[in-house]
Amino acid sequence: MHNSKIAVLSDFDGTITICNVLNSLYEKFAAPSYREALERWNRGEISTMEEIETVFATVSASRAEMESFLDTFELDLGLPNLLIYCREAGIKFVIVSDGLRWYIEYIMRHHGIQEVAVYACEIHFERGGYRFSYPWFDSTTPMRSVSKSTIVRDYQSRGYKVVFIGDGVSDFEAAQVADIVYARDVLLDYTNDQGIQAREFSDMRDIIGDLKKLA
Ligand SMILES: [Mg+2]
Repeated sequence: MHNSKIAVLSDFDGTITICNVLNSLYEKFAAPSYREALERWNRGEISTMEEIETVFATVSASRAEMESFLDTFELDLGLPNLLIYCREAGIKFVIVSDGLRWYIEYIMRHHGIQEVAVYACEIHFERGGYRFSYPWFDSTTPMRSVSKSTIVRDYQSRGYKVVFIGDGVSDFEAAQVADIVYARDVLLDYTNDQGIQAREFSDMRDIIGDLKKLA
């Protein structure tokens, strides 16, 4: 892999944060019926777009109320060093998330991290409610709001070796096409079941050491 460009594409919820921020927002601010929506999403019965829009229809909190809750989330301990390492080594690091760019950038900024590109859904705070848009949707992955596999392929077509990091259902398609996969939790089970080679990680510190061998 020497002399080739490397891009690290990382999931956010449950990967860069310990817990799932979107589900925590639901738990804190949505009607209890969000659980049914999540179960249906997990079973593949509804898309991420349907899940987000159904659940947020029951939320009435203001942006400020939700943002003060976002102040309580921690990032992976190894993330700052991983970002520094990537910058020094000329490795691209981007976030690919089936969640909302708003809370990802808010939490990162809260921890002093800026200038990381985020591919995610857009929430528009409007008078009396929320509206959503999905700039990274692709019909090859109709159940996902962000087509992570399409983004992986796009980087590959631009000459990058893609390292993908994730933990959940929305990472399945990307894990099938990435050059190197780091997985934990549901994604690790999936890669094992599917015979996809993946490296187990517990936090981002595990990944820095490996990247040093690649770069
Ligand atoms: Mg995740």
